[in-house]
Amino acid sequence: KRQPVNECRLFDAALAAKVQARRLLEADLRQALAAEDQLDLHYQPVLDSDGYRVVGVEALVRWHHPKQGMIPPADFIPIAEACGLIVPLGEWVLDRAAAMMMRFPHISLAVNLSPIQLRSPEIAGRILAILARHGMDPRQLQLEVTESAVLAMDSSVEAALARLRSDGVQLVLDDFGTGYSSLSHLHKLAIDRVKIDQSFVHDLGRSQDARAIIQAVLGIGQSLGIGVTAEGVEDETQKLFLSTFGCNEFQGYLFSRPLPADDAAAFLKSHAVR
Ligand code: C2E
Ligand code: CA
Ligand code: CA
Ligand code: CA
Repeated sequence: KRQPVNECRLFDAALAAKVQARRLLEADLRQALAAEDQLDLHYQPVLDSDGYRVVGVEALVRWHHPKQGMIPPADFIPIAEACGLIVPLGEWVLDRAAAMMMRFPHISLAVNLSPIQLRSPEIAGRILAILARHGMDPRQLQLEVTESAVLAMDSSVEAALARLRSDGVQLVLDDFGTGYSSLSHLHKLAIDRVKIDQSFVHDLGRSQDARAIIQAVLGIGQSLGIGVTAEGVEDETQKLFLSTFGCNEFQGYLFSRPLPADDAAAFLKSHAVR
């Protein structure tokens, strides 16, 4: 027989355990940020349509937890966002990546910018100061924002983005197609590039809808003069479909997984442009 009272207690206990685990992880993350030795960046190459020339890298944060091992960013970024740690974490990522990119001034650097970061005070000035400290040209930087960040935009965020853009920073709309943003956002925000969400690329072979959406995004990109990057490209069939319909930048396991800095540097040298 059902015992709603006990179920409720069970639920409370499970919830309390979750809250507790989250709080511990938050404390650990705070410590990791202070000590710096558990956090690391991987870099995933972005290639041109020939598939052998690197045009950019995306910096992706990694956390090697001393007890729990590798914790994926999808698990700790939301915690960092909830407790405000995403702001110093995001700056650590940019600082570390900018230092690495000094050796590769012809390749663009993409970093992910959380909506919380975007709304933090003086965000534009702080980003530009980090670049200046490393002597990095702002035109080398691509900031990846998601559609939800764009939807929650207010006038101070718009002003920050305008300042970054006027210094040459490029704005990329990440995970395109998964959210609710409309074409008018692309226009209004002066988006430089969109990244087709990898779920569409993944479904290419089995879904007519995925193919139609990808073709539509590539068509919009062409008519608005907005670059389109496909991510999560894992096989030649996907690559062929995408390049046939005009995609000009590719990212995915077909070319390279995200690599530790030393391996990424070697990859960049062997796929160098000029
Ligand atoms: P994202 O920005 O959409 O990054 C792409 C994710 O897809 C990465 O996962 C990457 O490793 C993975 N990926 C790349 N190519 C392939 C492929 O061919 N197949 C498959 N199945 N996956 C592929 P990762 O590194 O686990 O990052 C997950 C998410 O965490 C990122 O999604 C991003 O939203 C967030 N993230 C990572 N680093 C940062 C950061 O420094 N700051 C912020 N705010 N978010 C970050
Ligand atoms: Ca991204
Ligand atoms: Ca993405
Ligand atoms: Ca994503």
